[in-house]
Amino acid sequence: MSSSHPLIRPEFPPTEHVAADYAAITASGRFSNFGPFEQRFRAGIGRRLGVDGVATYSSATTGLIAAIGTLMGRGDGNRRVILPSFTFAAAVQAIELLDFVPVFVDIEPGSLGVDPERAREAIADGPVAGLLFANPFGIGSPLVSEWERLASEAALPLVIDSAAGFGSEYPDGTPIGGRGDAEVFSFHATKPLAVGEGGAVTSRDADIGERLRSASNFGFDGGRESVRMGFNGKLSEFAAALGVRQLERIDRIVEARREVLGWYRARLGAHSLPSNVERSSLAFLPVVLAAGAPRDELVGALAGIGVEARTYYAPSLHRHPRFADVPRGPLEVTEDVEQRILSLPVHSGIDEGTVEEIARVLGGATGIVDPW
Ligand SMILES: *Cc1c(COP(=O)(O)O)cnc(C)c1O
Repeated sequence: MSSSHPLIRPEFPPTEHVAADYAAITASGRFSNFGPFEQRFRAGIGRRLGVDGVATYSSATTGLIAAIGTLMGRGDGNRRVILPSFTFAAAVQAIELLDFVPVFVDIEPGSLGVDPERAREAIADGPVAGLLFANPFGIGSPLVSEWERLASEAALPLVIDSAAGFGSEYPDGTPIGGRGDAEVFSFHATKPLAVGEGGAVTSRDADIGERLRSASNFGFDGGRESVRMGFNGKLSEFAAALGVRQLERIDRIVEARREVLGWYRARLGAHSLPSNVERSSLAFLPVVLAAGAPRDELVGALAGIGVEARTYYAPSLHRHPRFADVPRGPLEVTEDVEQRILSLPVHSGIDEGTVEEIARVLGGATGIVDPW
């Protein structure tokens, strides 16, 4: 299908800026290994998020593996890591790669983040190495303080997968990136801060930041001796240069998307939005459709007007064939939300008239909300 309004449209910097960076990199001969662009990008991320620990990566997935390995160690096929089923596949894959046993727990319906009560039950159920929660769709979760309390009571590391959320804020207005023991970001082409492939892990703790950075570079510590868990997860200079450019633009990108959100908000009728979405950087807009709304028909009707809608994170992870045997607690909320979730475009190609048309389709087809 070729939509006139794709769900995601990366917003890249002007070609002449990228060309100038390319020329600078080829002239310097430094293509990787924490070169000048990576250093600038890393420092810029720290300033933007107000954190002392920053490590850049080739993807959020390599960042997740490094964060789990650095903060939780290595699994023994028995110790468990608790995560939501309602998230992207990278988290459970990173857990399995390190030989931990993943355990899926349910989400809370208002924010779509891990329900702390469900996590508490899972912790009581056997040996746990850590918590890998997620800021769903990159939205800073209103539950983050409860997650941190839970982690500290149980003396467990808390890693937050904030992959889609660079530029988002928690409800208190602080940028996401400094909560839990570490937060993980993606700079994939589909994310608000798009580089193509890239990621970062951030922490309030500068020492954790250094260990994370060492993990991205074979576990080397300054010299060329490996002293800890590591592999090659480094970000290239070309990607870092794009990152520096995007960092300068992210506030404008987010501001434009929040304006589009305002247009949707005024017209959503009986459908609802996850709490604190207004402070997110909006990779796309997740809408929880009113109960009974014919989601698949709506996706088809939107395609009919040239708008691409999808259904992240449905199917949730426990429905993927690969993760069917992953142990899990009750998942009632996950299984309800995954039937009703709809992802809508919010990038700069969406104008108010398009939102009006989208709203007409959503309202008309459900028969719940009409007329605007
Ligand atoms: C995009 C995303 C990832 C994966 O990011 P990569 O940079 O492609 O590895 C992981 N988790 C979540 C929640 C995501 O949205």
